[in-house]
Amino acid sequence: MRPRKVPLRKCVACQEMMSKKELIRVVRTPNDEVLIDLSGKKSGRGAYLCGKVTCFKLAKKSRALDRALKQPVGEEIYDQLEQDFIKLEDEFIANKELTIE
Ligand SMILES: [Zn+2]
Repeated sequence: MRPRKVPLRKCVACQEMMSKKELIRVVRTPNDEVLIDLSGKKSGRGAYLCGKVTCFKLAKKSRALDRALKQPVGEEIYDQLEQDFIKLEDEFIANKELTIE
């Protein structure tokens, strides 16, 4: 039996293709706020990152989110997202383990 095909998304930092479950979505809301969207359901333009702080740091360095979200992302927003990212990393990994089918 073949595993069901899962839609893949690309991490904007390391360019790796992964299933959505393994990625953290960053969204630019219609109000031009940039935030982490763990539910994956917020409206707006989204960018995906592996759930790893190392990847976030890479995105920050290369300003990958600016390109992915088609908007300049301020240094302070990157800093804020990085803080959130660090907080979320554990939760994200725990959720991932819970949702293994
Ligand atoms: Zn990555």
